[in-house]
Amino acid sequence: AAKDAGRNTYQFYNDTFYEKVRRRVALEQELRGAVERGEFHLVFQPTLRLADGRVGVIEALMRWRTASGELRNPAEFIPIAEESGEILAMGRWALEQACRQARRWHEQGLAFERIAVNVSALQLRDPEFATQVVATCQRTGWATDRLQLEITESSLMADSETLRRSFELFRRHGIGLAIDDFGTGFSNLGYLHRFPVRHLKIDRSFVSQMGEQANMLELTHAVVSLGHALGLSVVAEGVETEAQQALLKAQGCDEAQGYLYTRPLAGPELADWLRSRR
Ligand code: C2E
Ligand code: MG
Ligand code: MG
Ligand code: MG
Repeated sequence: AAKDAGRNTYQFYNDTFYEKVRRRVALEQELRGAVERGEFHLVFQPTLRLADGRVGVIEALMRWRTASGELRNPAEFIPIAEESGEILAMGRWALEQACRQARRWHEQGLAFERIAVNVSALQLRDPEFATQVVATCQRTGWATDRLQLEITESSLMADSETLRRSFELFRRHGIGLAIDDFGTGFSNLGYLHRFPVRHLKIDRSFVSQMGEQANMLELTHAVVSLGHALGLSVVAEGVETEAQQALLKAQGCDEAQGYLYTRPLAGPELADWLRSRR
């Protein structure tokens, strides 16, 4: 029995910890050079204004098709890319592609306000990042004041000189900032008015529970009020039902994004979706 228990213990260790580490190392290796090999593509998901249904921001989301043909999800590879530093090359690629795509849609006469790109904390810590962003807009012919960067609360924790200088450059060029997944991070609300933030995106985990839990309803309401008190536009993410949409609209939430409107789509499909709404 002792022997069996020992084996089971080993088995448990093997399946969880060791297996996780092994998978992580393998993913990290696969990620290296994936940008150069052309394994990433972007999909796009719009945000709609609840008052009139018009398209606001279009968010670019990364997808990874590995050499072996598997499609991998950002939740799986972004954290690893952040740890290995590969996210810097990936982020540069994503920004450039998103601006090029936005420019093409604009040339096709499609109406939307801005293109949004997710930015990780590591990118923001790079002193060259802000100037690279401006240079990418210039190179791709996309107006800086039609670009939005989505950052998380945790990115703002390090109140560094780099961050201040970057945000000053963003402000000068009209580059918008949105706080993504708002409510999930450490909310030191004091930071909100110190940075040129324009949007708060309420995390999906709150929105998905709105219909079921009364305190969630109060929570989203509080975020909407807070956002408005600070002069920000509030966006709900992960809206999947008409009921959620109605509740958010009643609370004065400004914009919504989610499967109720569309899943993230490849560039040409999103263009069709935009056309079909005219
Ligand atoms: P996010 O920026 O908060 O993006 C929203 C996520 O929610 C996306 O997942 C989107 O597909 C998903 N979503 C949207 N509407 C719904 C809905 O109604 N229901 C449900 N269940 N999900 C919905 P995705 O594309 O898997 O991306 C996950 C996260 O990965 C993103 O969360 C973002 O933090 C990160 N990410 C994606 N692309 C990039 C990138 O280019 N750079 C960086 N740094 N992070 C990225
Ligand atoms: Mg986002
Ligand atoms: Mg989000
Ligand atoms: Mg989210």
